[in-house]
Amino acid sequence: MDRGEWKTDLVHRLFDDISAKAILHIPFSNYDQKDILKSFTTRSGNYSVKSAYFTNHQSKWGDSTLLNSHKWKKLWKSNIMEKPKMFIWRLISGAIQTKATLVVCFHVEDPYCPFCSTELETVEHPFFLCPCSQSLWFTKWGLRTDLFSHFSIMDWCNTILNPSILFYYQGIDEDQFTSWAVFFLDNFWQSRNLLIHEKRQLEPQQFLKSISQCVNAFLEANKVPTLPTYP
Ligand SMILES: [Zn+2]
Repeated sequence: MDRGEWKTDLVHRLFDDISAKAILHIPFSNYDQKDILKSFTTRSGNYSVKSAYFTNHQSKWGDSTLLNSHKWKKLWKSNIMEKPKMFIWRLISGAIQTKATLVVCFHVEDPYCPFCSTELETVEHPFFLCPCSQSLWFTKWGLRTDLFSHFSIMDWCNTILNPSILFYYQGIDEDQFTSWAVFFLDNFWQSRNLLIHEKRQLEPQQFLKSISQCVNAFLEANKVPTLPTYP
């Protein structure tokens, strides 16, 4: 903009046709003041690193994402142990680097899953598509996760937080399932790292036992105390 007029050539050069048209229709202010940067993602309009981060994630996932869902906010506010909660956050934020994601930027000799060695280690594979994790989901919950091979990791996390679709007829305690699943994802990734870095094999029975202990301890610690009853 210069002397109250848009530099139309410059606007058309910098933006696509639709954006350029929209910009050229913006009316000028009657006040003579300097241009400033404004953010639409903060109430004050002040631009910050946080608002840029939020905008970036919004553009990635849109408004109807898990991060904006009621269930996610409930989990985030809950007293569930910080570590598994942070792990889910990292998982759906794309911060967990599996071999198949690393291979895009780096030389990775073996992009295959360390458990089954047959499938690429995508971000979905270890957590619900690998035969190793599938057997654990099935043993504990009778759940056939192979039926969800079309799911993204976001879909799977959303299902974990909203599990009624999985257990419609079975009367499973949804909170218990969600707590178990959140601990499972975090612990399974730890087992994957131990296998890669220390060659320590996952022991299914021991693994399931330790998850159950964590969940029971967590549920016990967060149990709402009931009032004593008097005759
Ligand atoms: Zn695998």
